[in-house]
Amino acid sequence: MTSTTLTLNNGVTIPALGFGVFQTPPEATMLAVEAALETGYRLIDTAAAYGNERGVGDAIRNSGLARDDVFIETKVWISDYGYDETLHAFEKSARKLGVDTIDLFILHQALPSEFDMTVDAYRALERLLGDGRVRAIGVSNFMPDHLAKLLERTEVVPAVNQVEVHPYFSQPAVRAADAEHGILTQAWSPIGGITSYRGDSTRSTFTDPVIVGIGEQYGKSPAQVMLRWHLQEGRSAIPKSVRPERIAENFDVFDFELTSEELAAIDALDTGVRGGPEPEVVTLETFGRAIPED
Ligand code: NDP
Repeated sequence: MTSTTLTLNNGVTIPALGFGVFQTPPEATMLAVEAALETGYRLIDTAAAYGNERGVGDAIRNSGLARDDVFIETKVWISDYGYDETLHAFEKSARKLGVDTIDLFILHQALPSEFDMTVDAYRALERLLGDGRVRAIGVSNFMPDHLAKLLERTEVVPAVNQVEVHPYFSQPAVRAADAEHGILTQAWSPIGGITSYRGDSTRSTFTDPVIVGIGEQYGKSPAQVMLRWHLQEGRSAIPKSVRPERIAENFDVFDFELTSEELAAIDALDTGVRGGPEPEVVTLETFGRAIPED
């Protein structure tokens, strides 16, 4: 039986399967998150840079669920790195979400060429953790050398590293580094959405013959097979959709079990080619943009 929750390295429990809202327009976010909460998702992943934290907060309040029953994850954008700046970024995100505490607050990217700013931002997360404003802290898009440099200079080991992981880019080296340090790998673009919306469109995880073939054995869709693969390999995954039928489909993954051969067949699809930006070259000049106060 695959667990529906995972325990972070500080003892906090996180739902294994969550719901993402990258590229969900602000005006559509509330409805998408309401549909997700109705379906049963209890982890919502947003980011200051997505511009839709307000819709996430509205949906949670509208759901009637107790605040403690929903796990809220959001990310600080690089333009807000620095100690005081990141403390202020927390206040901006909390205000937009309409909450006092955020369950998981993470750095969206490393700034490899300005790593001191990245460290200062992470120290602000440590302070927020110490003050009880956040329940867990972490990072995103950190490669093993970024993690090593961060760990050398900070106290709290990140609880989570959210990175691109799907069958065509499964980052075994990053996952091994995360595991070595007790960091949970959380998969973004878990069903390979980025291979469709940013890929060369000649090859999509949704039509991959191996994944489709496995799904046929169980009467499950390619998305469901990919999510099962993450869960059985111990990762958190946060698929995104704005369509209620897909939101429900992506959560209906707890009634079948892939074999170890099927997991290995999906592992073997890794191409080593990432869909997202190369983390090493992310700079304020190329990716910086102001995050509004409200
Ligand atoms: P996903 O792998 O979740 O795929 C989403 C895409 O697939 C959308 O185009 C969606 O379209 C479509 N889709 C969703 N469900 C299905 C389905 N069952 N069958 C077929 N197509 C489907 O990719 P994302 O890149 O959106 O990643 C998920 C989340 O990860 C984001 O929302 C965000 O929270 C996080 N993320 C984090 C990043 C980071 O740098 N930390 C970077 C990118 C993402 P539609 O909406 O029309 O259904």
